[in-house]
Amino acid sequence: MPSLPELTAEQREDIRRICGFACVRCGVTIYRYLALPTDKHADEPIGTLLCPTCHGLVEEGRLTPAQVCSFHANPVVRQRHFARDRLPFSNELPQLIVGGARLLRDTPIPVTVEGEPLLIFAPPRRGNGATRISVRLGGRDGTPEQIVDGNEWLPTNGSWHFLLRGDRYSIMAARGDGLAVLRIVSRSRIAVEHLRTTIKGRRVEVTPDWLEIDGKRYVDRISSGNLIGLEV
Ligand SMILES: [Zn+2]
Repeated sequence: MPSLPELTAEQREDIRRICGFACVRCGVTIYRYLALPTDKHADEPIGTLLCPTCHGLVEEGRLTPAQVCSFHANPVVRQRHFARDRLPFSNELPQLIVGGARLLRDTPIPVTVEGEPLLIFAPPRRGNGATRISVRLGGRDGTPEQIVDGNEWLPTNGSWHFLLRGDRYSIMAARGDGLAVLRIVSRSRIAVEHLRTTIKGRRVEVTPDWLEIDGKRYVDRISSGNLIGLEV
């Protein structure tokens, strides 16, 4: 399934709304915008949302275009049995468990390293949908790479992997040891379970309990109520 790079902001919004702000098959809120196989020749692109895992199944031929169309017609998040509480379907900026004992509140960007925001959290646009998550980590040579931008999964060359394991979103470098694991504690509470990257020559590791920069460990150094909780 080809991706839809030329979408306008309005078309993206339509697709998100139609799909329920998540992968139509599994409900993960990290996704790609993909062209839906269709016979119609409408002017507007008809797109759907699939998470990297479900998109991988399509690429491997384990999920047929017809199956994707039927998931699109009846997105999983709209089904009654779907458990929304294990995924970040919140209208508020989430509280964060990261780097110490204090719960981080009202802080969209917990940490920047050399001006690079590793994680950005934002409430959904128009107060409806899922927490917007952005992830930026160092690539193999430490150059910053945007991996997730407002819930959109950007890598197309297999350089990063995504996995939903239980209540965790795991993002891992295909090579090297870069990773970001976010645990969805509840709709509006997210724990940075583990983040590890080398970016612009700085080595960073973050857990719920501490933060380590260039080998030096800090606890409770990220402050609540600021746009950026800690700049290093
Ligand atoms: Zn999926």
